[in-house]
Amino acid sequence: MKTLILEEPEKFKRVDTPEPGLPGPGQALLRVQRIGVCGTDLHAFVGRQPFFEYPRILGHELGVEVVAVGDRVDQVQVGDRCAVEPYLNCGACRPCHLGRNNCCEHLQVMGVHVDGGMREQIVVPANKLHVSQALEFEQLALVETMGIGAHAVDRAQLTKGDKVLVVGVGPIGLGVVQFAQIAGAEVLVIDADAGRRDSCRAQFGVEHALAPSVDSLAELVEVLGGELPSTVFDATGNANAMMQSFFYVANAGQLVYVGFQLGEIAFPNPEFHRREMTMLSSRNAIGADFKRIIDWMEEGKIDTRPWITHRATFDDVVERFPAWREPSTGVVKAVLAM
Ligand SMILES: [Zn+2]
Ligand SMILES: [Zn+2]
Repeated sequence: MKTLILEEPEKFKRVDTPEPGLPGPGQALLRVQRIGVCGTDLHAFVGRQPFFEYPRILGHELGVEVVAVGDRVDQVQVGDRCAVEPYLNCGACRPCHLGRNNCCEHLQVMGVHVDGGMREQIVVPANKLHVSQALEFEQLALVETMGIGAHAVDRAQLTKGDKVLVVGVGPIGLGVVQFAQIAGAEVLVIDADAGRRDSCRAQFGVEHALAPSVDSLAELVEVLGGELPSTVFDATGNANAMMQSFFYVANAGQLVYVGFQLGEIAFPNPEFHRREMTMLSSRNAIGADFKRIIDWMEEGKIDTRPWITHRATFDDVVERFPAWREPSTGVVKAVLAM
């Protein structure tokens, strides 16, 4: 079967690999139809993804069709269209018992720690599948990436009328914008890229999309009528931006780090204390996030049209992939058809 392997940084190879065979108990065999390309994939491609081993089959944002099921599978049937929750958890650790398998102590993410979906067929545990008969495969391939934003918004427990700032509006930040709006928050954004700011205004109804500057704090106060945001989400994955985001949080407010980077984040202790600030991280998503997003897509509450900006096939993906690193190409989400 057709398989795309990332052999080493900057080097994809199209190869033929054996089909995975019949699924075991609790498993499903899937035909991979669409694959979303993510920042993680792009970082792996350039060799900047931490703890990443080569060679690896990428692909964790999957829209799939069930081809066969093993014994004791009742979640899905042959022919079902599904989104895949690509987080393989142990089921035994404390986070797993708490239902927080997104941060399982032994978590393995498909396409990152183990081989993913850039191949024609794949076997996964059936309990990681989320069915929709109504959605297109490329919409199903968006569910995982949106799940990150939905989960972050859930972590923050937003309420109607909250004033929310999202710093960094790549695909993850955009997901946060979308779900914060659904939660009834007033959302503004900061992003260094003018194209992304324009798209937030035009397609996501964000009134105030600001460029980062030395005056950002004063601008926020002005836009919000003398206040600071009650919740700040940082989805930049950039240490300087993350440290700056700290200062945008109102007293009694909260800061949610959705993105991360490899170094240390520092903040002045008195500023933290004066605010009585809550600081949270948000990692991956849980099954309930996938289900909620599928429902909202089916109901039309989420418009997927602004999301997919680039498409490729197995035959031209190797040539097209490198350009998706550049925000100047206007890429929100590139989707590969297997
Ligand atoms: Zn992703
Ligand atoms: Zn676990």
